[in-house]
Amino acid sequence: MSLKMKFLGGAGQVEGSALLLQSKNSNFLLDYGVSLGNHKGDPPVFPNHVSPKSLSGLSLSHSHLDHCGAIPHLYISGHMKCYITKPTLDQVSLLINDFLKISGNYLTYERKELEKMKSNSHFLNFNDEVKISNSPFTIKLLDAGHIPGSSQIIINDGKHRILYTGNVNSVETRLQPTMDLNYGELDAIICESTYAGTYHPERKKEEKNFVNKVQEIVDNGGVAQIPAFAIGRSQEILLILTENNYKGNIYMDGMAVKAIDLYSTYDKQFVKDPDSLKRALKRTILIRDSHDRNSVSGPGVIISPAGMLGGGTAIHYLSQIYDNPKNAIFMVGFQAPGTSGYRLLNEKIIYLRGKKRKLKAEPYLFKFSSHIDQNGFEKLFKSIKGNPTVFVMHGEENKLDYLMNYVKDIGLKSCSPELGNEYDISSNNSI
Ligand SMILES: [Zn+2]
Ligand SMILES: [Zn+2]
Repeated sequence: MSLKMKFLGGAGQVEGSALLLQSKNSNFLLDYGVSLGNHKGDPPVFPNHVSPKSLSGLSLSHSHLDHCGAIPHLYISGHMKCYITKPTLDQVSLLINDFLKISGNYLTYERKELEKMKSNSHFLNFNDEVKISNSPFTIKLLDAGHIPGSSQIIINDGKHRILYTGNVNSVETRLQPTMDLNYGELDAIICESTYAGTYHPERKKEEKNFVNKVQEIVDNGGVAQIPAFAIGRSQEILLILTENNYKGNIYMDGMAVKAIDLYSTYDKQFVKDPDSLKRALKRTILIRDSHDRNSVSGPGVIISPAGMLGGGTAIHYLSQIYDNPKNAIFMVGFQAPGTSGYRLLNEKIIYLRGKKRKLKAEPYLFKFSSHIDQNGFEKLFKSIKGNPTVFVMHGEENKLDYLMNYVKDIGLKSCSPELGNEYDISSNNSI
């Protein structure tokens, strides 16, 4: 019996993950994401086509659009089950509704397809093993430590056991435990490579430096604005501040508020320490409408999306604080070249209503990544049992090459597929 694997997206690039598995004439899809590009207004790029009617089901690793943004398209004509954690579906709903608002003109689907996806979703807890009906496949989700609900997927066709990492984090954060490395014996690994060959700063040290700087700005009567991704990063930043005893006001705005409302309902399986989240929420002023927004004043911290300043309520606050050197802007995630966040950091320039402005507030960058780095890859591959072939994806070319060569050096077969490539796991051949 052979197991075939076809890379429909995310091969040779970071965004748009999509992987099709075929065994005994049955098809199962892992992720179906879009590529958004770095420029606001770029049309999203969809992964390669798959016939929804040919699918026995699909599973989603997590709710970032580069993994889920094309899934509702499959529900125009399909009605297959989507195997998913509850937090992932909650966040998919938030992000896709927002995506429809912002990019609806470019999308092939509407809200009713999102609703159809939701009604066909089958919730899994971590480590549940479930048999996919009308197929040889069983799947199991393991905690990925990336954002709440994020999963690694282990899929088994009765003869081959495959790990699809999705996006993983090997470092414990305030919001999430580390990724689960209890894989058992594997025949193939499809591995993300975003930060292969790079090392993140030591987390606790980065936290201390960040909180000290924020405290200094606020104590001097300034505003510390923190643009952050709505899902995961905003809440992580809040916990970093509160658990390190930051003193002062904290405001949170935009979709980050909707996400923290959800997170506050999750138990220990999906957020590391629900009590710390409750403590943080008690002392945070949540901005829910423009009336609340207009009442924000004085020194303090404002956490609000978008993380690369591509839109969201962060722009409103930026327009109010950018020209006072007492204030500071803290970028807390990757800033892609060409984005407003990148220009703010590197050129101290912002655009407000199309007009170029010189930034007088001080910009800072702190690195609180939720992706595995090279230390993590070394840990991951030490824990591997069996002799799996490793397929690297979800990375820029130099990162993909680095991880592929690292894996070869430790004695495993490895390759970096291109878009559309097919492999037969039984024979380890490209077909
Ligand atoms: Zn992700
Ligand atoms: Zn991703």
